[in-house]
Amino acid sequence: MALAVEGLPYLPVFRRQTYKMINLLFPMAVYLGKFLGIRRRQLEGSFIAVSNMLFSRLGIKVPADRLLVVTPHCLQLATCPHKITRDPHNCKRCGGCDIAALVTLADEMGFHFFVATGGTLARQIVYNTRPKAVLAIACERDLMSGIQDVYPLPAVGVLNIRPNGPCYNTRVDMDEVRAQIEKLIIPKDKPEGAPHG
Ligand code: SF4
Repeated sequence: MALAVEGLPYLPVFRRQTYKMINLLFPMAVYLGKFLGIRRRQLEGSFIAVSNMLFSRLGIKVPADRLLVVTPHCLQLATCPHKITRDPHNCKRCGGCDIAALVTLADEMGFHFFVATGGTLARQIVYNTRPKAVLAIACERDLMSGIQDVYPLPAVGVLNIRPNGPCYNTRVDMDEVRAQIEKLIIPKDKPEGAPHG
């Protein structure tokens, strides 16, 4: 794990074990942090940052149609009357929230995009879409539990932006989402398993 985080050479055979280690070690770190007076949110943020870095260093890439992008319902404008949790394409793309940009990006790049109202629906979406990797947009707490929930599926987390406080009309940095997705998916002209540049 240390070699991968440092960007040093490691045996690809350890890739899976490396990812497993981070999922085992960080819950322990959160537990220990309680005794050392380290704020939970700080540790959760670190977990997500290291998990993302590791994910990127391990060079995990999947075909676009095997990537699932999932966001919480609070990303939708609270006053929007359209029901997007079963089908995000019900969004009229008025631009009132970031759902419009995510639906457009999903259509452009070919990944699955869903809005989940909670953990049960999120798990159902994962079960139905059978992704090989997940990109989740949420707060620190939900990302931390979500990344562990979907394990052994590799997952990348993008923190939401909360200008109106938690769980209400949240936003996301679309440039960051696009950049993370570009790193995650195999370019269309490259077959799966080919070396990535
Ligand atoms: S962008 Fe879509 S989900 Fe957001 S407010 Fe407009 S119609 Fe509703």
